[in-house]
Amino acid sequence: MKYWQIVETHMKKLDALHHAQNKITYDLETIAPKKSFNQTALTLETLAGLYYEYLTDEHFLYALENTKAENLSTGQKQIVEEYLKEVNRIRKIPLAEYKLFAKLQTQGHSAWISARESNDFSLFAPVLEEIVSYLKRYATYQGYEANPYNALLDIYEPEMQMNDYDQFFGAIREKIVPLLARLKESKILQQTIHAKSLQGTFAKNDQEKLMHFIVNYVGFDFNYGQLGESAHPFSTSFHNEDIRITTRYDLQDVTSSIFSVLHEFGHGIYERNIAADFTQTPLGTGVSMGMHESQSRFYENMIGRTKSFWQPIYPVLQAMFPQPFQDVTLDAFILSINQVQPSLIRVEADELTYPLHIMLRYDLEKLLFSGDIQVRDLPQLWNEKMEEYLGLTPKTVSEGVLQDVHWSQGSFGYFPTYALGSAYAAQFYATMQKKVCVSRELEAGNLNSITSFLSEHIHQFGKSKTPKQIIKDVTGAEFSRSYYIKYLTKKYEQLFLWEQ
Ligand code: ZN
Repeated sequence: MKYWQIVETHMKKLDALHHAQNKITYDLETIAPKKSFNQTALTLETLAGLYYEYLTDEHFLYALENTKAENLSTGQKQIVEEYLKEVNRIRKIPLAEYKLFAKLQTQGHSAWISARESNDFSLFAPVLEEIVSYLKRYATYQGYEANPYNALLDIYEPEMQMNDYDQFFGAIREKIVPLLARLKESKILQQTIHAKSLQGTFAKNDQEKLMHFIVNYVGFDFNYGQLGESAHPFSTSFHNEDIRITTRYDLQDVTSSIFSVLHEFGHGIYERNIAADFTQTPLGTGVSMGMHESQSRFYENMIGRTKSFWQPIYPVLQAMFPQPFQDVTLDAFILSINQVQPSLIRVEADELTYPLHIMLRYDLEKLLFSGDIQVRDLPQLWNEKMEEYLGLTPKTVSEGVLQDVHWSQGSFGYFPTYALGSAYAAQFYATMQKKVCVSRELEAGNLNSITSFLSEHIHQFGKSKTPKQIIKDVTGAEFSRSYYIKYLTKKYEQLFLWEQ
């Protein structure tokens, strides 16, 4: 086991570096002073360089390859395989390029913030061009078929390529657009939108208390995690005993933070429940972004927007915020948190129009990486697609092409996993309902059996199974978009179309 011991020692160093990088990034996004950004970026760049050096070290690679002759456990073999994959991916990128990207990510982020504040795309365009051009080179280093975009899609969801997404989004669009048109005619929906039942004034400290109550209620253990505040809600973990989730507070709408914390809780509980054997190894994280989003969107939507979930705790919300909820019945509240209305901002979109926001981004990313369009074309095309898919035109670039943080950090190929994750979640949910009486458990205020189901079938495995394997093992079938389409159709017909 001589070589395994070398691998293990190296693994501890790599994990420690990762831990440091993640903690600094978390700090930057939450409590670090605004002006600390540029100096701290230098630290992150150095750490990225160190990570590259450790990972591509010849002795490490030699040890990894020579463990084959040793009698390793299945878990150890999987760790070696995962490292070999990662080493081979990273080695293809020259060190100078790897560090350049780390720098572009921080520069991009701060340029994006200024551009958004001053509503001026031209402040962001030059660095975005550099990011796109780096990513095209990245795709060449890795190799790809048809479109460089395929190499990027692979980072976030292995085994999912443009062909798969084209079919997926084509089918979603075909079903959702007519359903949206039918919903427009719904009197119940019009009344719900008109009632504005969720509007009020919600003091921040009261909201904080409520969010603590909610995440605790759904099963977040504050002995192993924290709820912080950031401009954009997110979650991260340093190992399975330190989970951080964040939210933001909208003083006019408390539900914004409620659904953010439920979403981030879904990410957090996934990382928390990863088996102890895998944590602090390359297998100790969620297997893909699609799988991660399946967990977050499950708690946010399939649990968090149901009447069964709110039945035991709606009185708590009413007691905390008598204005406006004292005069809003539970049924009216449920209709309001599920109302469907085309909007400009993705993160505030309802569950039904949400995939259309994703399709727009997917279309533009594809065109950008095939070379059919340039960075400078993005604002105009964004608006045209928005009009085509949602019937709305943004008045400013801040509520249009500049609204999301992803591109500024070089995360192209990420967006499609949000929609895919929702579709995975619908398939898991269909299976879960055969084994757990979800609504009865929720009405009894018990989420244990729901979370245990996910933990047992998905969370514990971390990266030791592929997304396809997990879906097959949980549901007994291959991934199918039909569950998602059925789920959305049934849900919105029941809520807004049946009783007319
Ligand atoms: Zn998420």
